[in-house]
Amino acid sequence: MQRKHFLRLGLAAAAAYALAGTAMAQDKGTVGVAMPTKSSARWISDGDSMVRSLKEKGYKADLQYAEDDIPNQLAQVENMITKKVKVLVIAAIDGTTLSDALQKAADQGIKVIAYDRLIRNSKNVDYYTTFDNFQVGVLQATSIVDKLGLKQGKGPFNIELFGGSPDDNNAFFFYDGALSVLKPYIDSGKLVVRSKQMGMQKVGTLRWDGAVAQARMDNLLSAYYGNARVDAVLSPYDGLSIGIISSLKGVGYGTPKQPMPIVTGQDAEVPSVKAILRGDQASTVFKDTRDLAKVTVDMIDAVLSGKPPQINDTKTYNNGVKVVPSYLLKPVLVDATNWKPVLVGSGYYRESQIQ
Ligand code: BGC
Repeated sequence: MQRKHFLRLGLAAAAAYALAGTAMAQDKGTVGVAMPTKSSARWISDGDSMVRSLKEKGYKADLQYAEDDIPNQLAQVENMITKKVKVLVIAAIDGTTLSDALQKAADQGIKVIAYDRLIRNSKNVDYYTTFDNFQVGVLQATSIVDKLGLKQGKGPFNIELFGGSPDDNNAFFFYDGALSVLKPYIDSGKLVVRSKQMGMQKVGTLRWDGAVAQARMDNLLSAYYGNARVDAVLSPYDGLSIGIISSLKGVGYGTPKQPMPIVTGQDAEVPSVKAILRGDQASTVFKDTRDLAKVTVDMIDAVLSGKPPQINDTKTYNNGVKVVPSYLLKPVLVDATNWKPVLVGSGYYRESQIQ
């Protein structure tokens, strides 16, 4: 009895030791993940996917959200550096304000990966993982061209343009990508921007704020569309589209007599997928944040094991100081015809979340 008890204890201790051994082998250290805001579901999903993917590879995550407050994000990043995280993964609020902190990181040998948004004006950005941001704009504009029937020679149509936040490098890529498709139609007069407001200076939306977009749409409608119809609105992000759509509804769009214009979007957020099914929004662009997290974590693991990380673009993303080696994923256009296979079929959403 005594002996048996002793043996059992011994076995338990051995098992505990073995377990601790595995846990120790698995503990590859902590990675700092700085995300911009929880006000958009896309970033929550990025954060969750990062934590999951890091855990699968044996890392812990220090995940922080800054609620779109620049000093807050800076403090979070500085704190991660003080805690000596292994790698910093940053989706910047303002891509130009982190230079001093990143110098500190570099001095301590902490590698920095710009996540989804390029960090500008710093040599201490080692890699960049994102989606093909120019292509996002191309897809948004293509959805306008296709749904208006511009290739079939229809038109002229009235269009208004919205851009993302001017402190986010991506916003320029989205806008330029979209304009690469729309400009020929604008030049030929098949698309008319009645407000004449073009260029990121005029159409940018600071901090991607839906309320700001809504107020601008209100102004556009009252100043330029008193007796004309707006047929399309280029919106770079679902959160702006929501504001734009409520402004349009406020003046009577969304009825059989006055149907909604073609409104685009990005991120395939649940309320906007629902808006697509209601016919309020025409399309969105899906970017699978699970894939972005996976690519980023593979990169972290490679860097920390002294291996070259996978890169598929070494030309596009000049941050003002250097071209940052990047990995670009493919964005996918989503509308009422393909939302189910793309969003539910891939397991990103459950159908019950949408319908
Ligand atoms: C991201 C978009 C997002 C936007 C607003 C951009 O940097 O690439 O996916 O819609 O920020 O959060």
